[in-house]
Amino acid sequence: MLENQIKNVIRDIKDFPKPGIIFKDITPILKDQKLCSDIVDEFVLQIKDLEFDAIAGIESRGFLFGLMLANKLNKPFIPIRKSGKLPFKTIQQSYDLEYGSAIIEIHEDAFEPNSKILIHDDLLATGGTVEATSLLIQKMKGEIAGYSFLISLDFLNGKEKLRKFSENNFSLANYQ
Ligand code: 5GP
Repeated sequence: MLENQIKNVIRDIKDFPKPGIIFKDITPILKDQKLCSDIVDEFVLQIKDLEFDAIAGIESRGFLFGLMLANKLNKPFIPIRKSGKLPFKTIQQSYDLEYGSAIIEIHEDAFEPNSKILIHDDLLATGGTVEATSLLIQKMKGEIAGYSFLISLDFLNGKEKLRKFSENNFSLANYQ
């Protein structure tokens, strides 16, 4: 089963990026071409009934499968980046972190108003990053078509936070 294969390859890194955190390292997946293409195929299957115009991927690990998926489906890919990284004119959204806050940005011409956007990231934890991304898409008059994640840490209830934007929430490897 693909979910087990993904879980077997993901590496838990203790105390990264700071003490007390167990970080799920997805880089071993990228070394396995067959697994990567199986993952993209499974994403395609999960979202086959979803209508959307573009995929927005969140820096930086959201670019990996986000771009592969967009390319496979012949859809545009939109990078969402941390403050100061995008070269053209941007629209911003700030959000709270455990300590302090952060800003994410999108190019102001990333998509047309009323476009339906599928938001993609590697991992859903508390949902703060994707919530901010959703607000950013709405600021740009886009519609949230749904979400896709490689990994969901379900015990952190991030999916609950996203329900107000869209009920469509797909993930391949779920941790209860
Ligand atoms: P959230 O905002 O949902 O709490 O955190 C999700 C964001 O943090 C995602 O952009 C994700 O890439 C990153 N992140 C948090 N914890 C992990 C982890 O254990 N592994 C990976 N690969 N990313 C993480």
